[in-house]
Amino acid sequence: MKKTVLLYYLYTKIEEPEILRDHQRALCKRLGLKGRILISEEGINGTLSGSKEATDEYMKETNEYPGLESIEWKISASDGDVFPKLRVVVRDEVVTLGVKKSGKDVNIDNTAEYIEPEELLNLYENDEDFIIIDARNEYEARIGKFKNAKIFDVKAFREIPELIRNGELDDVKDKQVVTYCTGGIRCEKFSAFLKEEGFKNVRQLHGGIHRYSDLTGGKHFEGEMYVFDGRVHIPVNNVDPSVISECYHCKEKVARFINCHNSKCNKQIICCESCSEKHDNTCSEACQSAIQEHPELRAYKNVEHVQANACSIA
Ligand SMILES: [Zn+2]
Ligand SMILES: [Zn+2]
Repeated sequence: MKKTVLLYYLYTKIEEPEILRDHQRALCKRLGLKGRILISEEGINGTLSGSKEATDEYMKETNEYPGLESIEWKISASDGDVFPKLRVVVRDEVVTLGVKKSGKDVNIDNTAEYIEPEELLNLYENDEDFIIIDARNEYEARIGKFKNAKIFDVKAFREIPELIRNGELDDVKDKQVVTYCTGGIRCEKFSAFLKEEGFKNVRQLHGGIHRYSDLTGGKHFEGEMYVFDGRVHIPVNNVDPSVISECYHCKEKVARFINCHNSKCNKQIICCESCSEKHDNTCSEACQSAIQEHPELRAYKNVEHVQANACSIA
């Protein structure tokens, strides 16, 4: 059955996150919504799915909650439930950028100015001189990214600041820089961090890839967008769509993620259907023989199952 999927965030001071958590949990249960909501003193970040009526009511009631009036919603469709359950939790932060360990966190009030999707489209169309930086995890960019985007070779988003402090982008500090992520939340902190590191001309894509796709049709985005739910990736570009990801085994161009079915490995790889079959949904000969010799190690019964191990969800 068709479902609606919501993605949203708002940075705002939340005095008592536990009260909002209880409110949100009750609201979602009443409306039969599933998904994940992270709440902290710095804001709220959520992704939920349910019927159109239920998600409409959810948006209305959440926007009525004091302080949450200005949430911007990203809405997409799915063919069924994309979350196994509901999780509403209080965390220290809604996004972990990994700068705290070296002292204070970035100042979110110092976040960069927005660049609107149409403006970014124009930068591409006019062949302007600009640097576009992907502020996500490397595995997300594997399935899709903006044309010419700078992708960091890191397992997790929170490792990026270290690279930048070590001079990774020193040569572009004076250039026109645009950052992007899925729905915008990670760029709020990341772009503030870049400013603090001396980048002079940074803007962040307002509403992320999601809103860019909605407002421009997604031209200049290559491949698809990784999402932290059962759909795993969704189309962005309906102007000139392409596939950029390659099968881990045979290098065929394909947009299909699996987790290695050896539960001790669980590595997330791009894998075509025939290689999935040939390699028993594993990443290597070692993993394949492991699950053949020890069937109890087999992780999944269904073929396409991907674990979203998110540090944030927008
Ligand atoms: Zn293959
Ligand atoms: Zn494996």
